[in-house]
Amino acid sequence: MTDFSSPLKSLKAGHWFKLICGASYQHLPAVRNLVLAYTLAGADCIDVAADPAVIGVARDAIATAIHLAPKIDFAPKIPQPLLMVSLNAGEDPHFRKAALDPEACPTDCAQPCVSICPADAIAFPSPHGVILDRCYGCGRCLPVCPIDQISAVSHTAKPEVVGPLIASGIVQAIEIHTQVGQELEFQQLWQTLSPFVPKLRVLAVSCPDGDGLLDYLASLYEVMTPLPCPLIWQTDGRPMSGDIGDGATRATVKLAAKVLQASLPGYVQLAGGTNRHTIAKLKAKGLLHPDLMSASINLKSPHPHIVGVAYGSFARQLLSRVQTELETFSNPQLEDHPHCLQTAVSLASSLVSQLKPFIPSQPLTPIEHGRDSPPDSSRR
Ligand code: SF4
Ligand code: SF4
Repeated sequence: MTDFSSPLKSLKAGHWFKLICGASYQHLPAVRNLVLAYTLAGADCIDVAADPAVIGVARDAIATAIHLAPKIDFAPKIPQPLLMVSLNAGEDPHFRKAALDPEACPTDCAQPCVSICPADAIAFPSPHGVILDRCYGCGRCLPVCPIDQISAVSHTAKPEVVGPLIASGIVQAIEIHTQVGQELEFQQLWQTLSPFVPKLRVLAVSCPDGDGLLDYLASLYEVMTPLPCPLIWQTDGRPMSGDIGDGATRATVKLAAKVLQASLPGYVQLAGGTNRHTIAKLKAKGLLHPDLMSASINLKSPHPHIVGVAYGSFARQLLSRVQTELETFSNPQLEDHPHCLQTAVSLASSLVSQLKPFIPSQPLTPIEHGRDSPPDSSRR
């Protein structure tokens, strides 16, 4: 039986690290490589779209990482991460894709939609327009179109697809995205999920700020209780924006402080705008577990603290250079290109080690594991 005790210990110890692949992100080669690299770097949880194909590659990448870890001259004792799937209770920006009509584009358009897209999800002339599996719905392309022709198409993740995967143990955690005012939708989704809830190892509820937020979260708790597993309140400060600059993290730190003050039952974890500056800002505000705080900061003990951080856009951007290089190979699997694997795990561990100081963040040495081929420089 798989041992998931380590991620649960991370929650208690305040160094829980979650990779967000994206509730709408379905680019399978990139998802696989992200999951592989961050699992090898010590992530506690991998959060993916409610798509059986995405869940399948994430599961395969976790298994590959667990198999490879002992052979890598890096040797953290990596945990078996929890596989989490994101669902939405009502309309939510994480569950949408951009849409445009390439035939409507003026021939002299400078194509600002292409350059602003962080996921290389818009291309001309071929493939033509939005590449749906790459689009994760960040919305940045919408306002830059001079003829206002890009729209966002919302979708609802299917809990009935995920339920059997929870029942069989393939998916161990669920995240429900919600917003203030969506009680009815939340109750309906909870009812659909209820046969599977006893099998969950962790349940997360992700919510942005809004008027009446704390009362709303308290009402959701009433709907969900009693729970068989730990509950995480994910403070979604500034959704899908961690890669746009240092300041993007302010909103989620502020929101986490607000939710902590409410002393709701459950853990508090950040997301939405998280990046390399998040931990420093949390430290400055005294919001980390005492073991992660500098000894020079005088804290009342025990003090309310967050248990961890989830990284999405920033985590993906950090590895985007490696992914771009991998896409020049006929076989883009990360583990088959040792120099890329070394770089990717080193970059991922530079982020993970901010929360887990016991994991070294130094560069790794390349590995030999039977399917290696030297870097194919002729194709770069
Ligand atoms: S900018 Fe964002 S919403 Fe637009 S295509 Fe790219 S990923 Fe999708
Ligand atoms: S910015 Fe608008 S008009 Fe220009 S290429 Fe993109 S979708 Fe077409």
